[in-house]
Amino acid sequence: MDWNGKYSYNFPTLVRFGAGVIQELGIYLKECGIKAPLIVTDPGLKELPPFESVQQVLKDANLSVSSFCDIHKNPVKSDVQKGVDYYRQSKCDAIIGLGGGASMDVARAIALWANHPDNDLFDFDDAKGGDRFVINEIPFFVTVPTTSGTGSEVGRSTVISDDETHAKKILFASSLMPRKVFADPELTYGLPPFVTAATGLDALTHNIEAFVSKGVSPMCDGIALEGIRLVFDSLTEATLNSDKVARAKMQMAALMGATAFQKGLGVVHSLAHPLSTVFDMHHGLANAIMLPHGIAYNSSTSESRYKRILKYAELPGDSSQDLVKIIRELNKKLGIPSSLSKLDLDWSEQNRERLASLALEDVCHQCNPKKVGLSDFKQLYTRAYES
Ligand SMILES: [Zn+2]
Repeated sequence: MDWNGKYSYNFPTLVRFGAGVIQELGIYLKECGIKAPLIVTDPGLKELPPFESVQQVLKDANLSVSSFCDIHKNPVKSDVQKGVDYYRQSKCDAIIGLGGGASMDVARAIALWANHPDNDLFDFDDAKGGDRFVINEIPFFVTVPTTSGTGSEVGRSTVISDDETHAKKILFASSLMPRKVFADPELTYGLPPFVTAATGLDALTHNIEAFVSKGVSPMCDGIALEGIRLVFDSLTEATLNSDKVARAKMQMAALMGATAFQKGLGVVHSLAHPLSTVFDMHHGLANAIMLPHGIAYNSSTSESRYKRILKYAELPGDSSQDLVKIIRELNKKLGIPSSLSKLDLDWSEQNRERLASLALEDVCHQCNPKKVGLSDFKQLYTRAYES
């Protein structure tokens, strides 16, 4: 770290954490003067108990509750347009993002667009400095995660794709930080083992990639290290036994991962994103399979960082190879396939080329400690398929 440099840090998210905190949501909104909140969630979750509990809590506080769930797994602009229309028609005065990454992204994008009727949603594209268009007040916005992985509940950006081209746009504004996050591990008790494992390994990847990324942030480094320790301490128990304390630790590790990756992510996320675009693969699963390869790739630049992870998390060994071995063993225990070849993918040359070029376009690897080129991406995908 260059101690003569100049840096900006931002850690102000208000988080209410713990089993049962969701019971406070209705009263909180009422005290803030809210009368008609809109719950934004995905169609799957709408049929499950967490949605029911949240709706009940709001009704118990005599709030007029509406809900919107007409969204895609990889949300597109027309989802957001429908949500904004619904928000206006229903005369809502607050937005609750309930669920995993997709719900949170759409909820945040509705909040961004609702009071900016003269703009196109993609005016807010972060790549074009879109936050300069955010001039009006953002509706009252809170988040309630129901998985422990993405950590998007503590973020200020949202990823929405173009309906036709599928190009992903990152929309960012500092005012998109939720007023409050209600992180209640009870809402994750019913998650099936695969979702627990895959989302948990996403949280692990966020913490590890943030810790070794090129960014400069000792605060993020500290958060990432403890986040990593919590995952190794609890993910197996959370997945195999749905242990309540382990579930709480994983929820915290997910919050920490997304807080830490303000510093940056790396090659693993750039490898994972195209696997979701091309094969519709679960984001956490893609990260879980690519993580050992990303660590091996970065070992020449980041060996001392990987050693620090082992030491801090009290894991056996003292090299990046040992960390790779530990992650492979963890994946195995959690039922994650060791190789892409076990996933019945169309591994044609055309798809392989497409994966590598999408990975190169992805922004995450710009923070990777070691430069990654097109041939490196090709080689990493091949290794992950042939290993
Ligand atoms: Zn991720």
